[in-house]
Amino acid sequence: EVVPTKTHIALLASPGTGHLIPVLELGQRFAIHHGFLVTIFVVTTDASATQSQLPHYSSYKDLLDIVFLPPVDVSDLVTDSMAILSQLVLIMRHAMPILRTKVTALKPRPSALVADIFGTEAFEIADDLGMLKYMFNTTNAWFLALSLYYPHQDEANKHDHVYHHAPLNIPGCASLEYADTVDLYWQSDDRVLHDDYVKMGLDMAKADGILVNSWEYLEPKTLKALRDPNLLSRFSSVPVHPVGPLIRPVQPVGNSVSRSTALEWLDLQPAESVLYVSFGSGGTLSADQLTELAWGLELSQQRFVWVVRPPIESSAFGAYFRQEKRTEDGTPDYLPDGFATRTRKVGLVLEMWAPQTEILAHESIGGFLSHCGWNSTLESLINEVPMVCWPLYAEQGMNSAMLADHLGMAVRPKGVVPGGVVAREVIEKAIRRVMEKDEEPGKLVRAKVLDLKRSAEAALAKGGSSHGSLERVAKECETGLRERARGA
Ligand code: UDP
Repeated sequence: EVVPTKTHIALLASPGTGHLIPVLELGQRFAIHHGFLVTIFVVTTDASATQSQLPHYSSYKDLLDIVFLPPVDVSDLVTDSMAILSQLVLIMRHAMPILRTKVTALKPRPSALVADIFGTEAFEIADDLGMLKYMFNTTNAWFLALSLYYPHQDEANKHDHVYHHAPLNIPGCASLEYADTVDLYWQSDDRVLHDDYVKMGLDMAKADGILVNSWEYLEPKTLKALRDPNLLSRFSSVPVHPVGPLIRPVQPVGNSVSRSTALEWLDLQPAESVLYVSFGSGGTLSADQLTELAWGLELSQQRFVWVVRPPIESSAFGAYFRQEKRTEDGTPDYLPDGFATRTRKVGLVLEMWAPQTEILAHESIGGFLSHCGWNSTLESLINEVPMVCWPLYAEQGMNSAMLADHLGMAVRPKGVVPGGVVAREVIEKAIRRVMEKDEEPGKLVRAKVLDLKRSAEAALAKGGSSHGSLERVAKECETGLRERARGA
């Protein structure tokens, strides 16, 4: 008789490279550090596009059992005006029946199901099968705090935030300025979005634990508030385990791996002289904004690597669910005439996609102009690269406030608001502020990002806070028992 000796856990990733990457990384930790069998269910709208965005896919496959669920098609239910969050919730809901079948068939039966923020409806499956259930919050604790608080929010404060642009209070946490707020408050008359957020907030509060891609040193105040029975823990006593930063490691350069054009170009540039410009796996700018950014880059006279995508007028997340075709080489026709010729010596334009972790790890990189997606943020931080914040959607405004105002590792150009166009002079100035490393604030943001990087390494090392958090969760999965001592 074969007695299974390994603990088996199942993880669930919602559509989007930005969700899949941290889930894969978390799965790897369980497999490598704890010897678990790990099955990862991936929900996509297009599995091949997702795979093409994962350069390390094959190395993951050796360690993890990755199951792409049949692509979900909700196109007849989605409207143009539907919030991206609601689209994700809808897609995940439609994936539940097949997920239930697949999880039920797994052998040995996993002891726990770990779902990201959009997958909490899968908790029902875990309950029915007697499994522990965890939520993995792939962004920071501040956004988690908002999500848990939202269903219980003070209505008067919400009203003031939405209609009078007053700061939003989140008990025990930094308050949220209107300029940095999430779509939920911009689109306060979207009832579907409101209901989705409420349900998500209530569902995640029922988990046996919430893992968050952050660490104690980065967000001490917020993590304290999440555990305080007089503050956020009043609404949900779910234990919060900061396990981050979990990021995709740089691919080792072996004989079989040729260095990409971008890295070869970077090899020729002086140390810390290049600005990397990218808006994540799906972010796009309007045509007018692309033109201003191109001019801003040129005027700043800094070296740059820019990952460009064709403009999409209708929405900032237009490219989120699909992979654009590459256009012909040469200056893309949506950039100013002669841009490539004029910037040939100082700049490199890459279309659609770049090996981001490898670029950020290169010593020639001195700054990152970013949409502040949480993965991009952590990748920048761990490579000591200070940032210029350019939030587009989701919780990116919150991330920017945190990076620039709370942590001081980034600068913010004034006037970046969804739908607005930032002028070239403003962009030029922000770029100079971060790239001029011997002046302020360039010096200061470098010192801050170095301090944070060191704290991240300490948190992940044996004996560190994040290492300890993950060990506790692993123990719970092994014993099938939830550790009751919250925050212990
Ligand atoms: N990424 C990449 N190349 C690109 C754009 C993105 O490798 O050209 C990776 C990036 O390194 C990060 C992820 O895709 O790990 C994007 O996640 P993030 O949370 O920053 O933003 P999102 O795509 O979810 O908006």
